[in-house]
Amino acid sequence: MNPKKYVKILKSIEANSAAYTCPYCGALTYSVSDSFFCSNCEAFIPSAKALNQEDTKAASEIRKLVQSNDFAQAEQAYEALPEYATNPYFAYAEALACISESNYETAQINYALKGFMEENTTHRNNSLAAFSKARLLFSKAVYTAKKGISGGPETAKYIHAMFMAYMKLGDLKAAHSTLEKTGKLGNILLSEYENMVLKNGLRDYAGAANHAERLLSGDLFTLNAAYYLAYAAFKTGKPKEALYVLGSFPDKSENETVLALMKEIKSYMEI
Ligand SMILES: [Zn+2]
Repeated sequence: MNPKKYVKILKSIEANSAAYTCPYCGALTYSVSDSFFCSNCEAFIPSAKALNQEDTKAASEIRKLVQSNDFAQAEQAYEALPEYATNPYFAYAEALACISESNYETAQINYALKGFMEENTTHRNNSLAAFSKARLLFSKAVYTAKKGISGGPETAKYIHAMFMAYMKLGDLKAAHSTLEKTGKLGNILLSEYENMVLKNGLRDYAGAANHAERLLSGDLFTLNAAYYLAYAAFKTGKPKEALYVLGSFPDKSENETVLALMKEIKSYMEI
């Protein structure tokens, strides 16, 4: 990887692209093209032009609830959405909120307390319950996505939701066969992206980096690919290069995934 080249690209993103709010998780994403992936939940947005303001508003309100650790309200809000039963990305985004909840509960465990303190047991149980709910919701997303795969023009969106849900469930074999379905659609952007995510999941970092580099050039430009490229650099013994690239992400305060990886790399370098 040529980190300088990517840092230059990342620094020009804000000026050269438009910012969109994800209609599922409410995060801000930059894109140069009409089709893009959310930089937080990785949902596939086939057309920014088709985004509806009401959906993005509802999603950003739910995001605020998640960010203020009001998980029960956030989950309720997802489940009350009219498209909850037909659009797999809502159960998928709700599952991600449950993972945040699980992490939040784990962080509340006070290791200074001795023995089996009741307070810690509650946090541990809450964390496990939120994690189990997340797994159920990823399965629900797969189920909902399957119903939407008809072979029509909407299919790409559903196949990608199914692919991502399988990745989150750690079912790489099912993710791989879903990727074969993507291949038949002839959507290069989607194929490259899913190949990158699957190779990363398989710890084939050189392979993931190849797809990421393709996704950082020309019409296929995808901001998330810079994250995967940095991750591959970190995993192949180049933590400094990885940090250098991640440090140039636009509006990092909005991107918890990038911030979490930067933290992980920094603590690795301190050891
Ligand atoms: Zn999103």
